[in-house]
Amino acid sequence: MAVAIASESRLSSVQGRRPSLATLCSHSSLQIFHGARTEGFSTLGLCVGAPPRFYDAFPLARPDRFLSVPTVRELPSVAAQLRSEGAIIVPHGSFVEYVGPQAFSELDVPVFGNRAVLGWESDRRKEREWLDRAGVPMPAAYEDLADVDGPVIVKYYGAKGGKGFFLAKNREALADFRPTGPYVIQEYVLGTRYYMHFFYSPLSDRGYRVGHGSLELLGMDRRDEANIDELYKLGAQEELLKAGIRPTFVVTGNVPVVLRESLLPKAFDVAGRIVEQSIDLFGGMVGPFCVEGIMTEELEFKVFEISTRIVAGTNLFISGSPYSDLVAPGLSTGRRIAQEIRRGEAEGRLAEILS
Ligand code: AMP
Repeated sequence: MAVAIASESRLSSVQGRRPSLATLCSHSSLQIFHGARTEGFSTLGLCVGAPPRFYDAFPLARPDRFLSVPTVRELPSVAAQLRSEGAIIVPHGSFVEYVGPQAFSELDVPVFGNRAVLGWESDRRKEREWLDRAGVPMPAAYEDLADVDGPVIVKYYGAKGGKGFFLAKNREALADFRPTGPYVIQEYVLGTRYYMHFFYSPLSDRGYRVGHGSLELLGMDRRDEANIDELYKLGAQEELLKAGIRPTFVVTGNVPVVLRESLLPKAFDVAGRIVEQSIDLFGGMVGPFCVEGIMTEELEFKVFEISTRIVAGTNLFISGSPYSDLVAPGLSTGRRIAQEIRRGEAEGRLAEILS
């Protein structure tokens, strides 16, 4: 039996009734609503202003009802209404960013997953401590510019792949670097990037066992070829700068990938360690998370980031993926979330998966 991560009072609004699943109308909301509806839940779309029109084009993913707020930051002001409707919030990658980590951690509505993960994922140094303790290989980090001995990537806190990131081929290229805020300098890893979509169920007692529950792999996205596809970025950056364009890592879409089957044990080992360490540190992650890293030509997987909620790359697999098809046919991450909540309800174990 996993540990309870929600208090009795937090759960009171969903006890003894069929909850509805709510999320913010963006990111992976189509998939979350579609999955919830497939599992028989009613759905509630949280939107800013008028309901987004694009849902009219996707009848199987359109939420049953909408609840509108003037700005996302005002979401906490409708918490009482959400509780009165028996809502469970399913947070996605943009949710916490838009609502704000502080407001999200204090939001007085049941949320799928363990909010305690926030303190460990939002600060890059704490995230590194978590992964280090788990024994997961990561790109080297340089505390001192003088120690830089190869290509590096400079990341400002909170830049999220945006305008603050840049690459430097060597220490000399950093000579004019004048930081404008808190940052980290990481080894620039040459290889192939993989974004692996895992799901940890503390309720399950079969399958690939980790901690008290089990680990599933539901999909994977992005494809590049080691190591030339990554190397071009170092040169491309200079060409862009010559043209007066600042390079960014802003994500505009996703492509599906599969991993060499012989590398799957490595993927599960890394993800399993991350889950086990999360149990020791803060009672455990619950539900979807993404392990983001680079497979080098020596076939070492170096993790540069973990996302501890559903990531947008899972949108590729609304009707299943080459991995989730081997767990259950037509299984998306959104649907898997709804299944976990349904099981929690049926077994009286919502306190282990909501917070
Ligand atoms: P992050 O904000 O840490 O998710 O990084 C954004 C993007 O930068 C990633 O999707 C990768 O394309 C790239 N990236 C991050 N860290 C590294 C690294 N250490 N080596 C090479 N590329 C990286």
